[in-house]
Amino acid sequence: MPKTSYTGRHRPAAKPSRGRQFVVPVALLSSTVAGGLVIRDAGASQLSPEAAAMKNVSNSVAGLGLSADPDAVAAAAANRSGARSSRDMARDAKTLIIGATQSASQTANAAQAAAEKSAAAKAAAAKAKAAAAAKVAAAARQRALAKAHRWVSPVAGYTLTSGFGFRWGKMHPAQDLACPTGSTVRALSSGTVVFAGWSNEGYGNMVKIRYWDGTVSWMAHNSRLLVSVGEEVSPGQRVAYSGNTGNSTGPHLHLEIHPGDGSPVAPRAWLAERSVRL
Ligand SMILES: [Zn+2]
Repeated sequence: MPKTSYTGRHRPAAKPSRGRQFVVPVALLSSTVAGGLVIRDAGASQLSPEAAAMKNVSNSVAGLGLSADPDAVAAAAANRSGARSSRDMARDAKTLIIGATQSASQTANAAQAAAEKSAAAKAAAAKAKAAAAAKVAAAARQRALAKAHRWVSPVAGYTLTSGFGFRWGKMHPAQDLACPTGSTVRALSSGTVVFAGWSNEGYGNMVKIRYWDGTVSWMAHNSRLLVSVGEEVSPGQRVAYSGNTGNSTGPHLHLEIHPGDGSPVAPRAWLAERSVRL
């Protein structure tokens, strides 16, 4: 490392002449290395001999490895006292940058808040729309289900004859509805035909339907059947024409109700619970 030395007239003055002051601010030495060594001249716009001397100091510092640009040093030296120091300017610039950053940050935050508010409003509107659509769909399903699950009378225009109970010392597990042969016999609700054919047990032409709730109806003594096993039927759908086939003493529909395909119950009471009055 080269040793700094001074010779002849370049030796720094022991004391300032002509009242000029040369100040090498320690803080600036540390904070403006990149810009070079800053020298403040008390008055002259031209480099004084003393300033030139300090420039040599600067060059020497550069020789020690610090990047002190002589021109930058000179320009800084030309900076008059009373002008704001580069530290002040740096501080002001920093303040401006902080202010601008904060302003930009606030603007960004406001924009983000507005975007979030807009997105939330859109999401709420979409949710409300979906909820309304779901409500409409649910209502439609409810109506369709109510329509499919409604119960209706098996025949129109009948006379109640033998009811559910003992008749001539024998159990009659049905409700007989006297009606002219050829009267339309209808499914009581939605269901599946589980039997359609001739009964060897005295029921004549019989159709059995298992409904959506598991109940099975028997409709006997028909003159003609209109459905076959496995067929899906809807409430009120024609399934047969009434008649007087099998063990029958006159044209009528013999109706049995077997809840859960089990033992028969009184049809009138059972249908009454489903708003069907016989
Ligand atoms: Zn009967």
